[in-house]
Amino acid sequence: MSIEQEVKKRRTFGIISHPDAGKTTLTEKLLLFGGAIRSAGTVKGKKTGKFATSDWMKVEQERGISVTSSVMQFDFDGFKINILDTPGHEDFSEDTYRTLMAVDSAVMVIDAAKGIEPQTLKLFKVCRMRGIPIFTFINKLDRVGKEPFELLEEIEETLDIETYPMTWPIGMGPSFFGIINRKDKTINPFKEDELLQLNDDYSLESPHPIEADSAFQNALEEFMLVEEAGDEFDADKIATGDLTPVFFGSALSTFGIEEFLDTYVDFAPSPMPRNTTEESKVAPTDEAFRGFIFKIQANMDPRHRDRIAFLRVVSGKFERGMDTTLARTSKKHKITRATMFMADDKETVNEAYAGDIIGLYDTGNFQIGDTLYGQNGKVTFEALPQFTPELFMKVSAKNVMKQKHFYKGIEQLVQEGAIQYYKTVHTNQPILGAVGQLQFEVFEHRMKHEYNTDIIMEPIGKKIARWVENQDDIKDAMSTSRSNLVLDRYDNKVFLFENEFATRWFSEKYPEIKLYNLL
Ligand code: GDP
Repeated sequence: MSIEQEVKKRRTFGIISHPDAGKTTLTEKLLLFGGAIRSAGTVKGKKTGKFATSDWMKVEQERGISVTSSVMQFDFDGFKINILDTPGHEDFSEDTYRTLMAVDSAVMVIDAAKGIEPQTLKLFKVCRMRGIPIFTFINKLDRVGKEPFELLEEIEETLDIETYPMTWPIGMGPSFFGIINRKDKTINPFKEDELLQLNDDYSLESPHPIEADSAFQNALEEFMLVEEAGDEFDADKIATGDLTPVFFGSALSTFGIEEFLDTYVDFAPSPMPRNTTEESKVAPTDEAFRGFIFKIQANMDPRHRDRIAFLRVVSGKFERGMDTTLARTSKKHKITRATMFMADDKETVNEAYAGDIIGLYDTGNFQIGDTLYGQNGKVTFEALPQFTPELFMKVSAKNVMKQKHFYKGIEQLVQEGAIQYYKTVHTNQPILGAVGQLQFEVFEHRMKHEYNTDIIMEPIGKKIARWVENQDDIKDAMSTSRSNLVLDRYDNKVFLFENEFATRWFSEKYPEIKLYNLL
């Protein structure tokens, strides 16, 4: 098959939601549907002591939250679909944001009883910023939740996006009869664990006993209203993320999934071109292999001490054993071991194309944001966004004899993007920066278990971090306890301000210093 044909059949999406909306369940059901896994029930839950195939790390098992993103591929209707799972917990939003930089579309899972929750809103905004198509799956229709119109209105008003229901629910909870498929005007009757045996497909034109039911009548009226007064279907608006196709279903009951997938593959884009630092774009069909690393995860297999760098293929064809160059160092790396993740299995990858995510075994060469390219592919992709941390801790090794392990651990965890690293200017005191408190806890846990180093962390609290455009104009006297000057991992100068007041005071006193913050 040609590169064009391979690219055309690929779809890569990130799945976002507030914790507990059903993201993990939906992911598993999609994989099940695509035949990537054989049986359901391998998914967690947190409550029964089983864990999802995507929850690798021990820390997250203990906490019952998804700390890291994971990647899986499955086949559907001739398409190869890559799902990138993201941690729902807001303390790990940096990881989530970076993952969203590696997808071409997003699927937003909403709990029908809860509507739009804070984390959904945050993640949605990142997708919106990227201008990628967003598909909505309203989940848990087998339970009593909000009315469909109320949910659509909430989506439109809170997220400022138009909605286009592709399916419409008939009832909910105990009276959930099924969904109307808007495209072909058929009804898919709800079956939960085969308990409710309604085997025939009904058509809206051929009346059926359940028609008498008030839920059905009601749904039919609502459906007519949607047809007459709802937003128009507009593929261009879907493409720009201004209109979201909406699906109703129950991930737990594997219901409404096929309707979702059918539409998804039709309207989600195949892999998109990507910007380089030269402001040109690389097309996915370009012959030369190129990709970038958006995530590094250590020790996924407790028996081996390996790190895996997740690379999103941007163009060309990846082949096992190929020679690549790391743009940052211009060093050659022969890729002899690469894996693709198939739910509960890892598979060796022999070839991959734009949109695919491959896991490269890494012995400490790669960093988040790195570009790799093959023959004739020399480029550097635009950097991934960096985030302004708000929480800071002084950190040191409990045992001074363990300095080497301590710095090795910090270096690797920082390269992975697990935490940010700063140091004071004259004394080189290491300071950790994080977006969420749990990052520190994961850091401490991993330093102990992976680098055998007990650490002491001393909170210095919430700070306002500001980078400086004209670094050469900084004088020592500008650094005080209320405007503490530190260096980031690239040795850029950064002020950690005590509070808003200290920031303003500084800007008034030193108007020549141009401050800015990251994302
Ligand atoms: P995540 O935190 O978004 O990954 O959510 P999970 O997939 O872990 O689901 C959270 C809880 O909701 C679990 O107990 C699931 O079994 C349950 N759940 C998920 N989907 C459904 C559904 O369609 N109906 C019902 N009733 N429960 C669901």
